[in-house]
Amino acid sequence: MGPARLIDGKAFSASVVERVGVAAANLRASRDVTPGLAVVIVGEDPASRLYVRNKGLRAQEAGFASFIHALPAETDQATLDALIQSLNADPAVHGILVQLPLPAHLNTMAVLAAINPDKDVDGFHIVNAGRLAVGLPGLVPCTPLGCLMLLKAELGSLSGAEAVIVGRSNIVGKPMAQLLLGADCTVTVAHSRTRDLPEVCRRADILVAAVGRPEMIRGAWIRPGATVIDVGINRVPHPDPALAAEGKTRVVGDVAFDEAVQVAGAITPVPGGVGPMTIACLLANTYTAACRQSGIQPEVI
Ligand code: NDP
Repeated sequence: MGPARLIDGKAFSASVVERVGVAAANLRASRDVTPGLAVVIVGEDPASRLYVRNKGLRAQEAGFASFIHALPAETDQATLDALIQSLNADPAVHGILVQLPLPAHLNTMAVLAAINPDKDVDGFHIVNAGRLAVGLPGLVPCTPLGCLMLLKAELGSLSGAEAVIVGRSNIVGKPMAQLLLGADCTVTVAHSRTRDLPEVCRRADILVAAVGRPEMIRGAWIRPGATVIDVGINRVPHPDPALAAEGKTRVVGDVAFDEAVQVAGAITPVPGGVGPMTIACLLANTYTAACRQSGIQPEVI
């Protein structure tokens, strides 16, 4: 078997952003509604600030209104709660995202619970987790939604496929399992206590790795021809010892790509696979939220 097809998440995410932009322009023309995304960040962490800036820029590129609320690290719970309440009440804001992690003195669960579920474009509110579990329309976490889009674009129907997800976090593994179940896969969720993980992975027609351990999933764990979605983003020392000594790093996934690409049928690279889909799905969710809050059926993205 030759090398796997590369699933180009960068190109696919650009097409999603373009479709969202067109749909948002239609919404503005027909109903005079401009989707609005509010992003809240607490503290000065440079990586988080950069993510927030990028989210704001991409929202503007799609023709959305972007509202960034950058609060100092010492912000107290009451101030943050008051901001969330004002965003919940603001008709120009259709989506609210609180950049995580929050500083340790703040109660993350309480902040997420305070967001109006219909504006919860990250899909982390328990009401949205519940809607996903019972198959009601809601807002779905962006990273697993992006994975599902890539899988459908690659495979068409997923019906009857054996899907194995490694990882059971609330933001990736569990919602991924619900989405694949909804797409009629037979779903196995593996985790740190799973017995004989390589054997479980070898069952998979669709293997989703969301572990957070660099290159843990080896080529020999993959069924020949399987479709592999690598969610992992792990920063490791540069392979060149001289560059590593200078502190240089590179980003790798949870899958040993060089091995897996020889066995799989199709695979997402890291970077350039799942990563770019997350922000595209954030925009798609904000558009969907704006339509629903305006009593309109959203266009299919
Ligand atoms: P978490 O740390 O919340 O969850 C990791 C999961 O992997 C847990 O369920 C854990 O099991 C499981 N796990 C850990 N070690 C093993 C092991 N040795 N064998 C089997 N399972 C194991 O991570 P996230 O879900 O938040 O993120 C996963 C990865 O995806 C990370 O690399 C992260 O950076 C990346 N990510 C990328 C995003 C993007 O592309 N935009 C967005 C979000 C995450 P247990 O529950 O038993 O502890």
